[in-house]
Amino acid sequence: MLLGRSDAAAPRLNVKFEFGEPVMDPFENVPNTDFNRESNRQKMLAALATWKPRLNREYPLVIGGQRVTTGNWKPSVNPSRPSEVIGRIAQADQTAADRAVEAAPRAFKEWRLVSPQERASYLFRVAEIMERRRMELSALMSLECGKPWREADADLSEAIDFCNYYGKEMIRMAENVRRRDIAGETNEYYYAPRGVVGVISPWNFPLAILTGMATAAIVTGNAVIMKPAEPACVIAYTLLEMFEEAHLPPGVLNYCPGPGSVVGEILTKHPKVAMIAFTGSREVGCRINRVAAETTTSQPALKKVIAEMGGKNATIVDSDADMDEAIKGVVYSAFGYAGQKCSASSRAIVLEPVYEQFTRRLVEVARSISAGPADDCGTFVPPVIDRRAYDAIRKYIEIGKQEARCVVDGDTNPDVLRLRKETAAGGDEGGYYIGPTIFVDVARDARVAREEIFGPVLSVIKAADFDEAIEIFNETDFALTGGIFSRSPAHLERARHECECGNFYINRKITGALVDVQPFGGFKMSGIGSKAGGPDYLIQFCEPRNVTENTLRRGFAPTPETVGAVG
Ligand code: NAD
Repeated sequence: MLLGRSDAAAPRLNVKFEFGEPVMDPFENVPNTDFNRESNRQKMLAALATWKPRLNREYPLVIGGQRVTTGNWKPSVNPSRPSEVIGRIAQADQTAADRAVEAAPRAFKEWRLVSPQERASYLFRVAEIMERRRMELSALMSLECGKPWREADADLSEAIDFCNYYGKEMIRMAENVRRRDIAGETNEYYYAPRGVVGVISPWNFPLAILTGMATAAIVTGNAVIMKPAEPACVIAYTLLEMFEEAHLPPGVLNYCPGPGSVVGEILTKHPKVAMIAFTGSREVGCRINRVAAETTTSQPALKKVIAEMGGKNATIVDSDADMDEAIKGVVYSAFGYAGQKCSASSRAIVLEPVYEQFTRRLVEVARSISAGPADDCGTFVPPVIDRRAYDAIRKYIEIGKQEARCVVDGDTNPDVLRLRKETAAGGDEGGYYIGPTIFVDVARDARVAREEIFGPVLSVIKAADFDEAIEIFNETDFALTGGIFSRSPAHLERARHECECGNFYINRKITGALVDVQPFGGFKMSGIGSKAGGPDYLIQFCEPRNVTENTLRRGFAPTPETVGAVG
């Protein structure tokens, strides 16, 4: 038996639970929508249409249960057609952020005393509401964050899974209080909430990641201030609304959007914020970690930071790999959602004997994939999120052209140029379309081989032998995801132990981790903290405490209640 293999586990079907039923025990992931069915496609089209009359609405801050405006509104636009404003978002300033940091501790005082089972029940209710609103929320993700249908639907499933999983995990933790009693003494070890948690999220999993971090904090008894990413604020607002519908007490969850450099910075520095749960780029994650470590005289505690950050993930293609599978896996992992997944494969490390064959076939496939608007059913490569990302990726494409050979150029292909033109309106330059882009013969130390690009750009690197492939795999600063296509048991055995990354996949795509099945997260410059959707995650939001009681006391002081009981 090979170390770490789980051959004995029988495959299980993913069975959908009936709406309204209590969540399954043990935890099961909810299934995605099957868009091969005409009826489901019609539902999604209808859901997209329901957003048309709701565009361009105002979304205020929500602090302590109150709607708050600041007079400063920022549009959140559709990346497929930037002239379409999805909503106008109230921007928090110092006063509003301070107000949130005052409201949250007030709510925390009561919330921390609510039983873990009751706290979990709010998450289960939100999961039900999400399932009920599945199509509507997926449609919104498609419009606001440019998510193709299947990606938006999977995001929604993951958000539901986080609610159900963390709810169940909290109940498990509460039921398994550790006791180490000795003669004359009881010893109880339990987990208490930390206080106010600032949740700072990215836009690429606009519902799932925000839901995951916020629900983990809420269910462990903390109060939360959500600071969503700028391009995903309407979706974040809907999460707040769903918790309101589930009757979460006001102030336990607060919605405080605004620029990261203002609101994110205030939360990170604020003495009353006990913990920051962050997911985003390496640059911002490192800054938060540094800033949060600085203490002031008014600060009651050291701040806890967990940070999930970027990656420069690779897939190794071995000389005996099944080429059909390898090409499918790499294309899907590199270009799905335009490569805007932290888990995306942005490097393919290919063994010399199959290098020419792999690249020739890869290029043919990539040329056949065109970009398209995210709300079109057939789109696989949507536009990138915003102007800033678009400019940064195009700059990297220029750098790549200096460093390596560009064999598929997604910046200048005629389809992309046409789409940009067709979606331009009112003086803007159109949707932020960039097609699949492939560089071959990339040197292992090239910038496009080392730096996270966060777009549909793949660097193909040749390895002389398997040792070199593993060396190249490990020589970035990151360690998030990775994978291998190989039929050699010896190589697979080495790869599973020697490839440095948090989530490693064998003979399959390297994206699409499922809650509980594949707990997710990296190390090195990809993050600090335990894996999201895994058994160690909730503990990070808690302070472990131990209470020792001397049970050899002599007598006790009677109270009115005990007098009656004893008498
Ligand atoms: P980002 O770092 O630009 O922003 C993330 C959040 O941080 C946003 O809410 C932003 O407003 C806020 N922020 C910005 N400056 C801040 C500051 N000075 N202080 C506090 N907060 C600040 O990232 P993004 O563009 O939203 O997301 C893409 C990045 O996220 C990629 O690098 C991707 O790899 C990473 N990511 C990682 C994971 C993971 O699980 N490891 C998952 C998704 C995305």
